[in-house]
Amino acid sequence: MIITDWNGNLITGYKYKDGKSIAQIAKTKGGRIASINGCDTINWWTCVSVNEGPESCRITETETYCWGSNGGGGAPNEDYDNPEYAGGGSSGGGNNSSVDINNQDLKPCMQSLMSDIERLANGSIGSIIQRFSNNNASKYNWKLKDGQLTPNTNAFTSQIFDPSTKTVTTTFDSQKFSQATDLSIARTIIHESIHAFLVNHFRVDPLTAQGQFPQLMKDYANEIYGRDVNAVHHAEFARNYVSAIASALAEFDILRGYTHPFQFYEDLAWGGLEGTEAFNNLDETVKIRISNRVRIELTGKDLNGNYQNQIGRLSDCH
Ligand SMILES: [Zn+2]
Repeated sequence: MIITDWNGNLITGYKYKDGKSIAQIAKTKGGRIASINGCDTINWWTCVSVNEGPESCRITETETYCWGSNGGGGAPNEDYDNPEYAGGGSSGGGNNSSVDINNQDLKPCMQSLMSDIERLANGSIGSIIQRFSNNNASKYNWKLKDGQLTPNTNAFTSQIFDPSTKTVTTTFDSQKFSQATDLSIARTIIHESIHAFLVNHFRVDPLTAQGQFPQLMKDYANEIYGRDVNAVHHAEFARNYVSAIASALAEFDILRGYTHPFQFYEDLAWGGLEGTEAFNNLDETVKIRISNRVRIELTGKDLNGNYQNQIGRLSDCH
């Protein structure tokens, strides 16, 4: 069972030892179940398990919390301590379309990139994208929108899942992409698509998801990264998705008529994962090469602030 707090962070009611669940009595936890018109509805659960017996959870209280009355689409009045958590929030009311990938609130410069990303069909990224775009399934919905984020955050995928529309929302701050190449923006969109997939997958089909991502579940349960769900996701990205992101970028580039050495795509694929243990374990020269490439494709400058040639094509997001 997935239980989240006010910020949509996952709170575990489970503890594991040597891969087995041990006795635990969890406190009452709150899980946000809806976020509509500036209000959140929270289900408060009490979960109890004895020894290795099954955990039983029940809803003991439901309450609604609202953060403002001007209804102007302002940010929820929440204090996110992790910059990646800034800007998440309500899905807005009355706009529940059945479109699987909804990008009507993206800037046009990003909509044109999305139209190529939606054509990705190969590898695990292709299957994630196609799962979102498959009109028959209609269980995995992804809303992409433009919005202002904190200074060091280009994009943010909310952990909040809207159960009524089965939708996860990603906000992109296109102002940060004024000097970015198409490939830099594409790697950001692809990165966020995996966050969106994981949030959707664990809510829509939790048993399958838990079976597919055992290490991620252990990291959650043992609070290896505290309650930072993004960090848990990123560790999984570093384990399983770096070469998949690289392949997707290569496919994207081919769709646009270009090819480059695979190492270039692989370096870009580490973007957003530079805080992970896997990245830290890379050779120093490799880390510097990657960080320079990620920075150059995003800003046109290297780590020393010097202008360098970009490999991708400058986008129109400026
Ligand atoms: Zn991320």
